[in-house]
Amino acid sequence: MSNCIFCKIVAGEIPATKIYEDELVFAFLDIGPINFGHALVIPKEHHTSSATIPENVAGRMFHIGSRIGVALKRELEYEGFNLHLADGTPAGQVVMHAHLHVVPRKVDDQFHWNWRQLAYADSDERAGVAAKIIRRLDRKES
Ligand code: AMP
Ligand code: ZN
Repeated sequence: MSNCIFCKIVAGEIPATKIYEDELVFAFLDIGPINFGHALVIPKEHHTSSATIPENVAGRMFHIGSRIGVALKRELEYEGFNLHLADGTPAGQVVMHAHLHVVPRKVDDQFHWNWRQLAYADSDERAGVAAKIIRRLDRKES
C-alpha cells in the first residue's frame, strides 16, 4: 500500500532498526518503546486487520514474536514479555498495517495494562454471548 508507513519500512524507503526478516514477516524496534527493546512484527504484505492475514503468515508472526521475546529475556535481562495486537481504532490501533507488539517486561518496570474484569449478570447472559460467537465461527467466514 503506497501511503503506508510500515509498507515503506519493509521496502526500505524509510529507516527502521531491523531485527529480523524472512520471506513472510519483518521485525523492527518500536520508535517509542514501552521498555527498551520493544519490537514490532509485521506481515510483509499489507493487511489492515489481523483477520485477513493468511494462517501461515499469522503463525510466523506469533512464532517470531515469541522468539524475540525470549531473546529479550536472555540478552537484555528481562523477566517476561507481552504479545499485543490492536485491531481497529477502538482497540488502540494507530498504524493501519497489522502489527504484533513484543513488549519486554520486568517485575518492577512500573508499567501496568489498564485491565478490568466485568461480571456477566448470570450464566444465561454468558451463554448467549458465547452462542453468538460460535454461530459466526461456524459460518467459516469473518
Ligand atoms: P498501535 O497503537 O498498535 O497502532 O502501535 C503503533 C506503534 O508503531 C507505536 O508503538 C509507535 O511507536 C510505532 N511506530 C510508529 N511509527 C514508527 C516508525 N516509523 N518506526 C518504528 N515504530 C513506529
Ligand atoms: Zn502497509
